[in-house]
Parts: sequence; structure tokens; C-alpha cells
Amino acid sequence: MTAEPLMRMRLRVEQDIFVVRQLGREVARTVGLESQDQTRMATALSEVGRVLLGLGRHAEVTFTVEAIGVPTLRVAMTHPARGDESRLAGQLQQVGRLVDTMEVDDGESGTVVRMARRLPAGAPRLTPERMDEIHAELARHVPGTPLDELAVQNQQLISALDEVRAQRDDLARLNAELEETNRGVMALYNQLSQELEETNRGVVALYAELDEKSAQLAAASEAKSRFLANVSHELRAPVTAIIGLGRLLTDSGSDELTTEQRRQVDLIRGSATDLLTLVNGLLDLAKAEAGRIEPTWSEVDLKAVFGQLRGTLRPLATRPEVDFMVEEPALPTLRSDEVLLAQVLRNLLTNALKFTEAGSVRLSVRRIADDAEFVVADTGYGIAPELQERIFEEFYQVPGSKPVSGKGTGLGLPYARRLAGILGGALRVDSTPGAGSTFTLRLPLAS
Ligand code: ADP
Repeated sequence: MTAEPLMRMRLRVEQDIFVVRQLGREVARTVGLESQDQTRMATALSEVGRVLLGLGRHAEVTFTVEAIGVPTLRVAMTHPARGDESRLAGQLQQVGRLVDTMEVDDGESGTVVRMARRLPAGAPRLTPERMDEIHAELARHVPGTPLDELAVQNQQLISALDEVRAQRDDLARLNAELEETNRGVMALYNQLSQELEETNRGVVALYAELDEKSAQLAAASEAKSRFLANVSHELRAPVTAIIGLGRLLTDSGSDELTTEQRRQVDLIRGSATDLLTLVNGLLDLAKAEAGRIEPTWSEVDLKAVFGQLRGTLRPLATRPEVDFMVEEPALPTLRSDEVLLAQVLRNLLTNALKFTEAGSVRLSVRRIADDAEFVVADTGYGIAPELQERIFEEFYQVPGSKPVSGKGTGLGLPYARRLAGILGGALRVDSTPGAGSTFTLRLPLAS
């Protein structure tokens, strides 16, 4: 929308450039542009004025202010010569930067240069009353001499220089601060990377130590297994020989022995048999620990295994107070190693019979999810909770628990647990002292 012009003036001679410059500043000030924008507008006007006057003839300047929408000061400078649009636009390129918009075109009355600058948000509202005041103020404006204008320009130059110096000082200060911050950051970074490096070195050393320790442990454990295997192996032959010789001595074909001699030979045979059991147990355990037991996987017929256990252990279950029961398996087969499985169950059943005075010893199996669960339950002495893990240690026997029958070496359970692991399963115990124990062997149905 075109508003009522605030001011008009005609440029005729070079001096008028000073006048339009002053007027431009005055109009800009009156409508509410800030000081720097006033100077910008004044400079733009004098530049355009100078170029237009250079074309010869007169130029017309019109100031308007738009109160509706975004309040804007507009200036149109008209020159009667036409067709200079593109050349002018080129000459005035720099001027365009001083205002928000600048366009040059061929108007009806000649070439027109239009410029606009938006008023700041804080400028007084352009109410009709304010517009009247602006008109009145501008009417009172008396143009100064070129000397006045020169003084004003000098003043502006000085303040612009001051501002530039202040900005340069600010920049120098900021740079110094930045440098300081950079130094701080670098120091922190160096400190952190040093700490990190130290920590890393510590961790590496720790790992090396751990590696060394675990290598030592592995070597020690291997040495122990090798020692046990060798010693047991070497012992087996002489002990077997002692048992054989003892049998020969008491054989009916040998010379008659006195009762005392026979008693002593029987003692020797008994001790040698115990020793052989121990040696065999040690050998088995050493083999299992050295990983030298390779299971032979096959479909195991549980009915057959249970039948065999029932048959071989029946002779041990001699006490009428103890009910020895091997239940019918609730599971037909399982993929495992038959010999090792039977060995584990035999150890558990032998123990149950050894440590049960009265009641029952019972073997059963059932399926739980993808596992087979073998349970050997007895109503024997039971095991105190704090000893329930210790009984799986080599040579550990619960103090004071005398077997009802037979003897022990303390190697049966550690071996059984090893075998359970080799078969891909686990062995655990639940027990209540005085009420009995339940050993549970859990094995996967398919190895
Ligand atoms: P052992 O040859 O002495 O039976 P094991 O390793 O088989 O060796 O068992 C270790 C110890 O665990 C036994 O000496 C016994 O004290 C205890 N024990 C094992 N099974 C039972 C059980 N069913 N009832 C009570 N105590 C048991």
C-alpha cells in the first residue's frame, strides 16, 4: 500500500547531495530508525543522489513511511532519463547493502531507485497522532550548510573508529581467553591420557600376572593328575600281586597254615584289597581330571541298566531293615555313555546302602523338560548343610559317619561328579541330618 509521502525534494546541484543526506538522516531519526541505520540511510541517499546527478538533469526524492504491516521507511529517487536501469544497478551494488531492499527500474516518469528499511521493533508506533508529529517535526527541519554536514560526518567517523577499536580490543581479549582455555584443555587432556596410559599399563600387568597364575595352576593340576595316574598305575601291579600271593598261600593246594598264620595272611589280603580299591579310585579320578575319559555315546536302554544295578547291588543290601528298590524307569532310553552312567549310579547307590541303617534306598528316573533326572534317595544318616559341598572334595569323609557296612576312600563322590560333568550334566545333593539324603543326577536326553 502506498502511504502519504513524508517529504519530497529535488536534486539540482551537487550541494543538494549534502542536503538530501541531512534530510535522509533527519527523516530516518524522526520515524524511529536507530543511529547506525540513520547513517546508513543517509549514506545510501547521498550515493544514489551523486550517481543520479551524474546522469545530468534533476532527480526527485520522495520519503514515505508505511505504518501498516511491518513499519518501513521507503525512499524513491526518480530521474527523467530512461533506459539506464542495468548500468545503474551495477553502480549502486554496494549501496544495496546499506538498506533492506534496493531496486532499480524504468518507471513511467523515468528511472526509479527504490530503497526500503524496516523500522526496529522498539520504534514508536506510527499512530495517526505520531504521524502528525512526524510531519510537524520534518516541517521544522532547517537544512544545514555543507560544513555542518562535514562536521556531522566527522563525528560519525570518529564514533565508528571508536567502535572498531573497541571491537578489536574485545576480539583480542576473547582470543586471549580462548588461548587460555585451550591451554587448560590441553593440560587436562595430557593429564587424562597419562592417567589412562598408567591404568592401561596396570591392567596389562595384571592380565600378565593372571595369565601366569592360571598357567601355573593348570600346570600344577596337570602335574597332580599325572602324579596320581603314574603312582596308581605303578602301585596296581604289586598290590594285585600281593592279593594273588595271599590267595595262593591260603589255597587248599598249598601247605597247611596254622590258624594264626591264616589270620595274618587274611589281614594282608584284606589290606591289599582296600589298597587296590583306593588305587583304582585314584586312577579313575586322575583320568577323569586329565580329560582322558572319552564318553562313548549311544542310545542307553535304561531298563537294562536298572536291571543290572538291581542285580549287582542286591548282595550289598543285606540288611532286612533296609528296603532296596530300583523302580521301573519312567523313561525308556537316553543318549549317553552306558558304562559311565552306570558307574555314577552305582557309586550313589553304594553310598546310600553304606550310610542307611533302616528305612529305604530307592533309585528312580523321570523326564524333566529336555533332561533325564535320576534320583537316589535314602533314609540314612543325612549330611549337615555345611558339609553338603565338602563331600564332593577328594578324600573328604564326614567325621564320625561310620558306614553301616563296607569301607570308603572319599573318592566316590568327586569321581561321580566329574563323570556327571563329562556326560554333560550335573550332580547335586539335598539332605537332612537324621532323615536321609537325596542325590540327583541330571543329564540331557540328547548329548
Ligand atoms: P566314601 O568312599 O567315603 O563313600 P564318597 O566320596 O563316596 O566317599 O563320600 C564321601 C562322604 O560323604 C562319605 O564318607 C560320607 O561321609 C558322605 N556320604 C556320601 N553319601 C552319603 C549318604 N548317602 N548318606 C550320608 N552320607 C553320605
